[in-house]
Amino acid sequence: MENRQELQSLLDRTAAVCRSLTGDGRQATYIPELATVDPTLFAVSAVTLDGAVLSSGDTEARFSMQSMSKVMSLAFALERLGYGEVFSHVGMEPSSEPFNSIMKLEMTSAKPLNPFINSGSIVMAGLLAERLGSGVIKDMLDFASRMTGNKGGLVVNERVYMSESSTADRNRALAYFMHSSGTLSFDVEKSLDLYFRLCSIEVGTADLAVMGATLANAGKNPVTGERITSLDTSYTVLGIMSVCGLYDESGEFAVKAGIPAKSGVSGGIVCAVPGRMGLAVFSPPLDKGGNSVAGMETVSRLSRELKLRGI
Ligand code: GLN
Repeated sequence: MENRQELQSLLDRTAAVCRSLTGDGRQATYIPELATVDPTLFAVSAVTLDGAVLSSGDTEARFSMQSMSKVMSLAFALERLGYGEVFSHVGMEPSSEPFNSIMKLEMTSAKPLNPFINSGSIVMAGLLAERLGSGVIKDMLDFASRMTGNKGGLVVNERVYMSESSTADRNRALAYFMHSSGTLSFDVEKSLDLYFRLCSIEVGTADLAVMGATLANAGKNPVTGERITSLDTSYTVLGIMSVCGLYDESGEFAVKAGIPAKSGVSGGIVCAVPGRMGLAVFSPPLDKGGNSVAGMETVSRLSRELKLRGI
């Protein structure tokens, strides 16, 4: 088991050094609401498998999950619809393309390479909306609240949702293209609407670190003690995080940090270290791949200090 005092002091030291290591990173502006966030915010959290929640930095900061919601959506879809149905619609291979790329879809006309790129996640949202009906967002918010142990209940940030859905030319292009080729066989606008709402769920780093710890703990939330997913679901999600979590920088991140993770354009990264802990970090400036610069550095340093490397 981790020594809590030592872990807290490591988080404090790492936060002090890493919060300014943003290089020439820039926060996302293509979703206008994300451009209004203070780029100097920085927070990091760790959740051990005996249920300690430790944080440092601007621990009250709240931000939208963006692509980190794809971890929760995949876990939810696997629990509700099963492995066979999920992977009949999306693959499980890294894309080595930017997260919003249309290129491979056009070249192969096959299903999206994995559920963590936008095309794959829009197909998953369409599948869930079609199979589970209009109550699906409520069910998914409930699932996400239990997975993060958030007592008040997670909600959609309506400003981010409106901002995202009114400026989503690229995601609309992806969805209508997939619909035209039969890759997305569900209602396009319903697929996109659920996708935008999921990306707009608001969290803090402690929520995300509990989510990571739940996966690291074979599907059981170590803070609340509640079983959230089966062992098989946690293994599947961890596997996809290992190879697809940081888009076309997944390889570089595997070399530098070596742990299953998922990033989002709000500047967060959620990590799950099987058998050890969940980690989450938030710092809005992003590199050209859409990953948090200080976030990647923080996770790499924590991985080295705590010998977390596992992939
Ligand atoms: N909502 C964002 C988008 O669709 C999510 C992308 C991301 O976090 N990488 O563009």
